[in-house]
Amino acid sequence: MADETIFSKIIRKEIPAEILYQDDLVTAFRDIFPKAPTHILIIPNVLIPTVNDVEAEHELALGRMFTVARKLAFDAGIAEDGYRLIMNCNRHGGQEVYHIHMHLVGGQPLGPLLT
Ligand code: C5P
Repeated sequence: MADETIFSKIIRKEIPAEILYQDDLVTAFRDIFPKAPTHILIIPNVLIPTVNDVEAEHELALGRMFTVARKLAFDAGIAEDGYRLIMNCNRHGGQEVYHIHMHLVGGQPLGPLLT
């Protein structure tokens, strides 16, 4: 069993976060250090450390992450102009928190890559 991260505490509401959406499979909250006007993290409630650890049993939660991303993009008013969904994996990908998360980033032109 992988070590929990701070994101497990956010899911259980043991530490503060601006949670925008939560259900039985996923939780979404504002990134504490936003890189754009809209920067939301969407995570599975189950701990999956990296994309390398994804299994078939996770497909329902991973699919829910996309439908929630779509909903939150519309809620934030950025759907029409567009946005970026990012998942970083391991060191070269720039992953800092080892509980997979989808970054929903938008609200401004993002350029060819978000660094
Ligand atoms: O993809 P990566 O692992 O680098 O992203 C982690 C993200 O988690 C960062 O954007 C960081 O600002 C965010 N974070 C957060 N709340 C915390 C700890 C990290 O929003 N308590």
